Amino acid sequence: MSWEQLRSIVLQDKADREFWAGQPPRACPNDGTPLIPAPPSASGVELFCPHDGFSWPRDRALPGEAGG
Ligand SMILES: [Zn+2]
Repeated sequence: MSWEQLRSIVLQDKADREFWAGQPPRACPNDGTPLIPAPPSASGVELFCPHDGFSWPRDRALPGEAGG
């Protein structure tokens, strides 16, 4: 394996992470409850968890993911 191949893998991984970071989650990361569309009155929120109030993308910065 060459350095160029390693570099390619790293760049692809970075691109994949950025892609998935931009995708809406399907379920609450806290309790796994399926997220439902937020009402239009909730500005800045597209999806939310009816169980604990997790809102996406407002609460996108999850514990343990900061600084990444
Ligand atoms: Zn939740």
